Amino acid sequence: MPASPVTETRSTCPYCGVGCGVIIEAQAGQITGVRGDPLHPANFGKLCTKGSTLHLTAAAEVTRQTRLLQPMQRLHRGAAPVPVSWDAALDTASNQLRQILTDHGPNALGFYLSGQLLTEDYYAFNKLVKGLLGSNNLDTNSRLCMSSAVAGYKATLGADAPPACYEDLELAQCVFLVGSNAAWAHPILFRRLEAAKAANPTMKIIVADPRRTDTASLADLYLPVAPGTDVLMFHGMLHIMLWEGWIDTAYIAAHTTGFDAVKALVRTATPERVAQECGIREQDLLQASRWFAQSPATLSLYCQGLNQSSSGTAKNAALIQLHLATGQIGKPGAGPLSLTGQPNAMGGREVGGMANLLSAHRDLANAEHRAEVAALWGVADIPAQPGKTAVEMFEAAADGEIKALWIACTNPAQSMPDQRMVQRALERAELVVVQEAFANTETCAYADILLPATTWGEKIGTVTNSERRISRVRAAVPAPGAARHDWQIAVQLAQRLEPQLRPGLPTLFPYPLQPASAGAQALWEEHRASTAGRDLDITGLSWELLDASGPQQWPMPTGATQGQARLYADGLFPTVDGKARFSATPYQPLAEPVDARYPFSLTTGRLRDQWHGMSRTGTLGRLFGHVAEPRLHMHPQDMERRGFQDGELVQVSSRRGALLVPLQADAQLSPTRLFMAMHWGSEFLSGRAADGQRLLGINALTQPAFCPTSKQPELKHTAVKLQKT
Ligand code: SF4
Repeated sequence: MPASPVTETRSTCPYCGVGCGVIIEAQAGQITGVRGDPLHPANFGKLCTKGSTLHLTAAAEVTRQTRLLQPMQRLHRGAAPVPVSWDAALDTASNQLRQILTDHGPNALGFYLSGQLLTEDYYAFNKLVKGLLGSNNLDTNSRLCMSSAVAGYKATLGADAPPACYEDLELAQCVFLVGSNAAWAHPILFRRLEAAKAANPTMKIIVADPRRTDTASLADLYLPVAPGTDVLMFHGMLHIMLWEGWIDTAYIAAHTTGFDAVKALVRTATPERVAQECGIREQDLLQASRWFAQSPATLSLYCQGLNQSSSGTAKNAALIQLHLATGQIGKPGAGPLSLTGQPNAMGGREVGGMANLLSAHRDLANAEHRAEVAALWGVADIPAQPGKTAVEMFEAAADGEIKALWIACTNPAQSMPDQRMVQRALERAELVVVQEAFANTETCAYADILLPATTWGEKIGTVTNSERRISRVRAAVPAPGAARHDWQIAVQLAQRLEPQLRPGLPTLFPYPLQPASAGAQALWEEHRASTAGRDLDITGLSWELLDASGPQQWPMPTGATQGQARLYADGLFPTVDGKARFSATPYQPLAEPVDARYPFSLTTGRLRDQWHGMSRTGTLGRLFGHVAEPRLHMHPQDMERRGFQDGELVQVSSRRGALLVPLQADAQLSPTRLFMAMHWGSEFLSGRAADGQRLLGINALTQPAFCPTSKQPELKHTAVKLQKT
């Protein structure tokens, strides 16, 4: 019998926001290989350790052992889930949702999605929740990832639009990395920066981070900024730039407003004060300010170190203001470029898939925007009441206000801060539905109904990476078992609810379920039309054009032949007066400062070879070769002072819980600072809350305090103490 042919399918890597293109090899319905797509402008054929092993995580044996392949339902809490049909699962879920809606109103419902969903999935869910159910309680794990970057862009530049692009790595003369370990978290982009530096040794690289990470090994100047003090550091840089006459007064006058207030604000951010409070030597702050301001082109790359903070918006805005003050924006090699953590956090924002957003970068708080979206969808109105953001949603469920939680493609029981609070929310909710590709996430254990979803290599749609580039995602193999696409599940739920919620009216969800490509494309077309005249206008970008010309950067309005590499070259910003805004937000210290009882600052972050809660990367032994087990990193001097040994098991406690974990001596850290990777969940780490409840990983310790503007929690700092076991 002739062997089945090997097929090759162009798609994208499902891990980080670099958004690398992949070519998936498959044979007889099974993924057999993966390689980098040489034609994809994000990676030109390169893949990191995670991307290059994707096919192994999709092997038949791994699928059998790890995937959720059949709808399941618990007959009562505490019972083991039993297989049910799709119709039975969706009927039960829709009936219970409808009952809660009738009894308690739309604000008793909460939907928690993921930056790993495709744009089309997001669009369907957003319309279901805000258009049909009349609730704005839809948020995503992007709230934990990029919401401070969004708020920072909007506060200063007027729109959630990263102005620079990857090509700027080669064109910059100075690159300022802040709160980003790109060497591990965005490896292909970092390799590109290494190559750019090798080709242009005069390029200056500055790295500001509380840890001296692998990224800092490329730096000409390393600034060991103390946790939470970034705003003061940026204000100190602006103070020096003003003092030395390094600002671009002509650019400020022509293209910005509000500079005088910021100028007054930074007067107290003297080098002496910055040195004392941020832990940065005065001469290093001066050098960083000089290189940033006087370089012909300065590019800033930043990530969770700025975003996951109780002052995340202020941090983002203060950095962007350095670019505005020096005219380092809107020209090749210059500008702020936030690095997206997840593969499609950008796409989710584009369709308004968050509690405060609406389609095509419209704002829920704006009555005109609500009316525009209502007209686009053909509904009477969009509710004005702000939706609950991630932490607020789980706190409301723990308090009994939200009674139904619908969770798609994310694992809040492991990844949300203050894990005991999240457990209480999942226990107290009357209905918990989890649609997931993987069967054994910590959140699955709380689900009343489990719905099997497709994942990498099976999904169809689009994603947007950190440089606004939209790529097609294509299926190389059919969905395994009974798995369905996330948008299909949303549409099938909507179709069950519409007869009672919109009796006699035409459906809001006219998307064909089969073939799946037709339904996904219909969702894309509706999203595309909704962007007309908006900052991210993609009315000129069809799937056919993406297929023919490859990935494109938005905006790409009707008539454009290609996307736009960088924004604001004309100095015009998407604000009422066309000018960018300085915002005089004072420096605020950490929400939970260290004190005599909790004297250490714990920060969390990624490992090079793991992803999120490890549901995919944790299936491969070889990805544990880099780091094999959880370790709490501590400066050797701190260990010596307290009599700890390398490898010793200690109890690390915060005000919320405690974990047992081995110590690792690490001179990359400054004294009194600790680090632990975010990935380790219940399989690896065991702990207890104050009430004795078992906890499941690093977020046993972390705090729910969040930025008042972006509502992004402060995952980068927790005050903790250590005890011998
Ligand atoms: Fe995937 Fe990111 Fe690695 Fe690229 S850099 S292969 S997108 S994990």
